[in-house]
Amino acid sequence: MKIGIPRALLYYRYDTLWKTFFRELGIETVLSPVTDKTILDEGSLYSIDENCLSSKLFFGHIAALEGRCDAVFVPRIANYGKDGILCSRFEALYDMAVNTFRDKDLHFVTCDIDLQQKKSEQKAYTALAMELGKTKAEAYKAYETAKSAAAESQQKKIQAQQQLLDKDGIKILIVGHSYNLYDEYIGKPIIKNLHDLNAVPLLADAVDLKQARQDYTSICRDVPWIMNRELVGAIAQYHDAVDGIILITAFPCGPDSMLNEMIIRRIKDRPILNLLLDSQDGNAGIETRLESFVDIIRFRKEAAI
Ligand code: SF4
Repeated sequence: MKIGIPRALLYYRYDTLWKTFFRELGIETVLSPVTDKTILDEGSLYSIDENCLSSKLFFGHIAALEGRCDAVFVPRIANYGKDGILCSRFEALYDMAVNTFRDKDLHFVTCDIDLQQKKSEQKAYTALAMELGKTKAEAYKAYETAKSAAAESQQKKIQAQQQLLDKDGIKILIVGHSYNLYDEYIGKPIIKNLHDLNAVPLLADAVDLKQARQDYTSICRDVPWIMNRELVGAIAQYHDAVDGIILITAFPCGPDSMLNEMIIRRIKDRPILNLLLDSQDGNAGIETRLESFVDIIRFRKEAAI
């Protein structure tokens, strides 16, 4: 049995958890290739116009797995409890994938997380493993091992970022969902561009996520979506250590557009650049804006000396 994992959306949050979980179960996984123009075009073909860029990419990555695996893993995550909702796309994704690719040679497996319906993460992964022919004990052990590996990986990410804080240079916090920041086609070029401009990019997902989910209230009190709380919490944690903030949003993301507006209104003592990513070819416009942004920060710092 070979499970396909689309290299998009929640993969960038749960990659260690998923890879360790399947490996512990003795199940081989295959990742879709890194994003390129073909994957974006395919994703756009399978999506309605109203889909955000990130979910268009997701569908492109599913299409890229056709013929390369026995089943594609698409989790359904409705919520993490009454006070922990996610963007509604994460609840709908599995049904959308099954329906969109119904005429293709693609099968899907899921895990159904919905704490409001008493379906915990642990129960969901155990049920998935048992559906794949494993015993309850094997499932439980694989899940526990995967959770520990994921926690360790997050800790390493935080430690690596702490070392960047000691570096000289203009430090810029990039605030965006990990699936946008780490995507080779839409997010990574921005990070590379900042390096080329001799700035030090810091990423908003390198935080203690639990702590960030508490810290967000110092900036905005009402943030319904759990992942957006983490992003705002990251700003609260890194605010004093950075010279500027870049907000990255995939068009047309409802949660981010509302939150970004609030962040811009509340944070007045740091320059903020708001970048909206769409399906554009090339990054020339973005590069110019990044260069101006870094120049402005540099001039302000020099003027303050
Ligand atoms: S939060 Fe925004 S970018 Fe993420 S899946 Fe939802 S609409 Fe798309």
